[in-house]
Amino acid sequence: MNYIADIGLEVHVELATNSKMFCSCAVVDPTATAPNTSVCPVCCGMPGVLPVINRNAVELAIKAGLALNCTIAETSIFARKNYFYPDLPKGYQISQYEYPLAYKGYMLIRTSAGERKIRVTRAHLEEDTGKLTHVNENGETYSLVDLNRAGVPLLEIVSEPDLHTVEEVKAYSHELRLLLRWLGVSSGDMEKGSMRFEANLSMRPEGCEELGTRVEVKNLNSFRAMEQAILYQMDVQRETLSSGGKVKQQTLGWNETTGKTVIQRSKEDANDYRYFPEPDLPPLVVDAAWLDSIKKNMPELPDIKRARYAQELGLLQEDIDRLVDDKNTCQFYEDCLAAAPRLSPKNIVNWMLTDLFAWLNLNGVALESVDPKSFVQLVELVDQGTINQSTGKEVLAEMLASGKSAEEIIDAKGLHQISDSNLITDLVQGVLQANPNEVQAYLSGKETLANWMFGQVMREAKGKANPQVVKAELQRQLDALK
Ligand SMILES: [Zn+2]
Repeated sequence: MNYIADIGLEVHVELATNSKMFCSCAVVDPTATAPNTSVCPVCCGMPGVLPVINRNAVELAIKAGLALNCTIAETSIFARKNYFYPDLPKGYQISQYEYPLAYKGYMLIRTSAGERKIRVTRAHLEEDTGKLTHVNENGETYSLVDLNRAGVPLLEIVSEPDLHTVEEVKAYSHELRLLLRWLGVSSGDMEKGSMRFEANLSMRPEGCEELGTRVEVKNLNSFRAMEQAILYQMDVQRETLSSGGKVKQQTLGWNETTGKTVIQRSKEDANDYRYFPEPDLPPLVVDAAWLDSIKKNMPELPDIKRARYAQELGLLQEDIDRLVDDKNTCQFYEDCLAAAPRLSPKNIVNWMLTDLFAWLNLNGVALESVDPKSFVQLVELVDQGTINQSTGKEVLAEMLASGKSAEEIIDAKGLHQISDSNLITDLVQGVLQANPNEVQAYLSGKETLANWMFGQVMREAKGKANPQVVKAELQRQLDALK
């Protein structure tokens, strides 16, 4: 019996705001800040304080919602999600429940089987909790709480269980992170906890339409953990079902060390949280003018860009992916296109993704330190024939290392390509005269020697001769001897 997996993802994303969701405390890097230094009575949950909605967080969430093709609610409502845990000083988390900010969207993903549409149920705003550190020291165990993270704005993005394979889960989560980074909504930095995943997963026999009983796996803090946890649970459920057993509805955690899921609690329903509307906050109203101004400032999104690069610029899919995978790379490329409208877009991309990137990787230099204008100037000099391809590569490396312009380097080193046909005629003649045996062998049928002679001419020209002109002249003189 074949089983089909139905997987939905809940993604928690820390929004890239300067201050927290409901107070003016700074959002700080948790790995580089002393505990409990960015806190105030609001985010510490002191009685009698009033939360205030962070406008920037709302705008970032709307941008994400629009990019995910969601409807943006004109009125959404904050709600209290009540539960007790030591990292939650108020005893409740302010979230959105019945009336989320964004809902009914979708995202297109690309897989080996083609494009698929994954429905996005909702995207809602909430606040993060604090962070607990459990210590076990000399037989004494205790926990420490750091509230720097308490109240940091979060966007929770929930998908329908439309994903069926690990490949699709990967495609969805990577595309989502790309989108959020693209819009500046979040750093998407998983090592710092800026993006966290939870998966719900069920299995059903092939041909059966009804979804099976689902488990939830929490604490998936890397793509790798998510992939492994899902594969593990797929195996467990497939085995349970094929041996006639039943899957229990459970909330699981992922243990990275053992590579197994562990039970956190059984069955958890929304009514366990006793949600009710947050009495200290007004409804969040997004009027048409506000929404329009955000829409107007949306950048061109990755899938639109991919399609445009393929149709208008004729780039290869592989190159398009490398460009669009990173917004800065894409911006650099577009700056190049703008600076050299006469060059072919393909020519620029070839130089950029091969020679330029190879040099940057080798030397550990960031693309941001390269000036697109001087880079395309070099590509133009090669394109015009001022220098040949291989000299171009050397000049590029020197440009990047020294910061000098391509022209300066070419002038200083006298690297101008020899296209002067008289000079090349003389060079070819010289090589043929100096190597009578090879010429004879060529004439008696060893035609590959032409390549060797070509190499000799290029060597005589110290690599500066125009290879096309040399090739043509060599052929002309050899033909004349036949
Ligand atoms: Zn605060």
